[in-house]
Amino acid sequence: MNDRSPPLSSRLPPPPEAARWPNRFAALGPTFHTQMHGAGLPDPHWVATSEDCAALLGWPADWWQRWPEALQVFSGNATWAGMAPLASVYSGHQFGVWAGQLGDGRALLLGEVETPQGPMELQLKGAGRTPYSRMGDGRAVLRSSIREFLCSEAMHHLGIPTSRGLCLTGSTLPVRRERVESAAVVTRVAPSFLRFGHFEHFYHQGRYDELRQLAEHAIEHHFPACREAAQPVLALLGEVTRRTARLMAQWQAVGFCHGVMNTDNMSLLGLTIDYGPFGFLDAFDPQHICNHSDEGGLYAYARQPKVAWWNLHAFAQALVPLVGDGQGTPEDVAAIRAELAAFEPVFGEALAAQMRAKLGLRETHAEDQDLVNDWLRLLEAQKADYTIAMRRLCEFSPQAVGSVRDVFLDRSAFDPWAARYAARLAAEHSVDSARQAAMRRANPRVVLRNHLAETAIQRAEQGDFSEVQRLLAVLSRPFDDDSGTAADAGFPPDWAQQLSVSCSS
Ligand code: AMP
Ligand code: MG
Repeated sequence: MNDRSPPLSSRLPPPPEAARWPNRFAALGPTFHTQMHGAGLPDPHWVATSEDCAALLGWPADWWQRWPEALQVFSGNATWAGMAPLASVYSGHQFGVWAGQLGDGRALLLGEVETPQGPMELQLKGAGRTPYSRMGDGRAVLRSSIREFLCSEAMHHLGIPTSRGLCLTGSTLPVRRERVESAAVVTRVAPSFLRFGHFEHFYHQGRYDELRQLAEHAIEHHFPACREAAQPVLALLGEVTRRTARLMAQWQAVGFCHGVMNTDNMSLLGLTIDYGPFGFLDAFDPQHICNHSDEGGLYAYARQPKVAWWNLHAFAQALVPLVGDGQGTPEDVAAIRAELAAFEPVFGEALAAQMRAKLGLRETHAEDQDLVNDWLRLLEAQKADYTIAMRRLCEFSPQAVGSVRDVFLDRSAFDPWAARYAARLAAEHSVDSARQAAMRRANPRVVLRNHLAETAIQRAEQGDFSEVQRLLAVLSRPFDDDSGTAADAGFPPDWAQQLSVSCSS
C-alpha cells in the first residue's frame, strides 16, 4: 500500500475557544496506552462536519473554517498545544471466542473538551497504525467513515445513546480492501471510549492492580454515584448492566442491528460505539443478519439482547478479582449474579415501554404484550417494512384505518389485529390527534438505511460531498413530517437488496 504520510508538522497554536485538552485516561499511565502521533492523511480535505456535535462542544458552527489548522488536526497531521494523543490497549471476545489483545488499532484519543455535559473525549479513527494495529493498516476507508459519521449523528437524534460524529476528513491515499478505496478520518466524540474489553484485558493477563486502577478510574470519572455503594465495583456492574439493557431495548425498538457485538465493541457507558457493518431493518425479519461476515448469524437482530447478556457475563468475569476478597467465593459470585440479574427485567420493561409508545398506548394493560407480539408476528409473516409500517400506524384511527393496511401483502391479514388495536385504544379513551402526534415522536420517518448511505458514498467517491451533508440534515430531524424527500422515507429500491456490508472497513 502506498502509505507515505507527510512528516508530523509542528504543534499548532490552540484554537481560541478550545480548552487545555485535559486527558484523564492518559493519567492512568503507560500500562494502559501508548502516547503517539498519527501518521496522518496526505493532502487532506473536508468531507463533512456536524454543527450539532460542534455545539455540544461549545464550538461555533464554522469552527472548521475559523481555525485553518483544524483540517490538519482532524486528519491526524498535527496537534494543538496541550494535546497528547494516545492509543489504548484492550482485549476482547470476538464472535464468542477469546481473541486476546486488540486495542486502538486505528484510533487515537486526542484529549478532552470541557462541556456543560461534562468532559468529552475527541478520538480520531483512521489516522494510521498504532502498536495495536496487528495486521491492519491503521486506516479507515471513506465508505465506512461516512456510514459511521452519519449513523452516529442519526442515532443521537433518534434519542439512542451513542458516540457522536464531529467531522470527517478525506484524502486520495489509496487503501486496499476488497477493492482499492480512499482513506478518511472520522472524529468521534463521547464522554469515554472505555469498553468491556479494557477490563477483560487486565483480568486475562492476571494484572489485578491495573484492573483495580481501571475500575477506580471508571467509577471516579464516569460512575461517581457508585462510590457510595458498599462495594463500588458491584454497583458499577449493576449500572453497566442496566444501561446495556436499556440500550438493547432501544436498538430492538428502532430496528437497529449493530453487526459486530464483540466485547471490545461494547461501551462501558452503554453507548452505541464502533459502527461497522450495521443496518436498520427494512422488512421486519427477526433473523436478519446485517453483517455479511457473520455467516452463522451470531449477531442477528433478534439475538442482540442475548449477546449483550453474554457480553455482560464476560465483563462480570473480569471484575471477579475486585469483588469481596477477590477469590470468587460462592457469596461473591452470588453478589455478581444479583447485579447481572437486573438485565432481564430492565430490558423487558424498557422494551415494553418503547413499544407502547410506538403503538401510542398511554396506559399499561395486561394484553399489551400480546398485542405487540402479534403486531410483530404479522409484520414478519407479511414481510412488511418495519419503519414504514410503524410510521403509517401513526395515521391509524378506529374510524379510518389509513395507509398502514397497504404495507401488508395480504391486506386482510391486518384487519383482525386492527380490530384488537382499535378496541385497546378505545379502552383508554385514546384521542386520535394527541395519540398520532405522540406516535410520530416515537416512530421515525427516516432511518439510515443502507441504500441511503450508499448513494451518499457513491457521490462522495466522485468528490461530491453534498449528499452526505444533506442526509446529515435529514437524519437530524428523523421524526419530522417534512424531513427529507418521499424517497428518503420510502421503501428501499430493488438494488438495495444487492448491498452487502462486511467487517472489512
Ligand atoms: P472492529 O471489529 O472494527 O471493532 O476492530 C477490531 C479490532 O481490530 C480493533 O482492535 C481495531 O482497532 C482493529 N482494527 C480494525 N481495522 C483495523 C485497521 N484497518 N487497522 C488497524 N487495526 C484495525
Ligand atoms: Mg472495535
